[in-house]
Amino acid sequence: MKNLWRQLRFEGIQDEHVLKAMEKLPRELFVGEHGREEAYENTPLPIGYGQTISQPYIVAFMTECLCVDNEDIVLEIGTGSGYQSAVLAQLVKKVYSVEIIKELGLSAKERLKTLDYNNIEIKIGDGYYGWEEHAPYDKIIVTAASEDIPEPLIEQLKDNGRMVIPIGFPYSTQHLMLVTKSNGKITSNSLLPVSFVPFKGKH
Ligand code: SAH
Repeated sequence: MKNLWRQLRFEGIQDEHVLKAMEKLPRELFVGEHGREEAYENTPLPIGYGQTISQPYIVAFMTECLCVDNEDIVLEIGTGSGYQSAVLAQLVKKVYSVEIIKELGLSAKERLKTLDYNNIEIKIGDGYYGWEEHAPYDKIIVTAASEDIPEPLIEQLKDNGRMVIPIGFPYSTQHLMLVTKSNGKITSNSLLPVSFVPFKGKH
């Protein structure tokens, strides 16, 4: 297990808060039975319903790119197992997470309750529309690949906010983009080639 954290540091993850939050979290509790033995390998793993939990490097990288602080209100699209939500919840004030597959959303809710996370709220729905009720958000993280940035997410991002989102077509190379908003103006930068499960719902 120690090797994983060493590897993430070696691969360039520098934010000790992010690394500590991940080290504290038992990843084996978030993956399907078949993935348990590989829970501390730097590899994506199945979580059921054709979905996967990202490899630890990508979770760390995306979290680091958000530059979160403990007053942040964060929106996540694609709750999946709840792993990314739990990493964020240790670092920010509140995480709102939207999941389109009901069964995954409900089991993530149970899992996070058992682990005593009480600053995460999960909603079942199409994350294309964000979660307007609690907007605007300091940070937004999308963990499924979309062909473009959903307009409602741009609207729900605070001025000076940051969003990380994989952009591209399903099962081809996608780009992890960092989207920032300043005086209402959007800037996006490509950070890394990635491979995410497709964004469902409207796009
Ligand atoms: N962040 C997750 C992994 C995400 S896998 C974790 O830490 O486990 C991507 C997830 O996005 C899947 O659960 C998938 O069902 C969900 N998803 C795909 N399209 C979505 C949409 N439009 N709205 C909300 N969730 C979506």
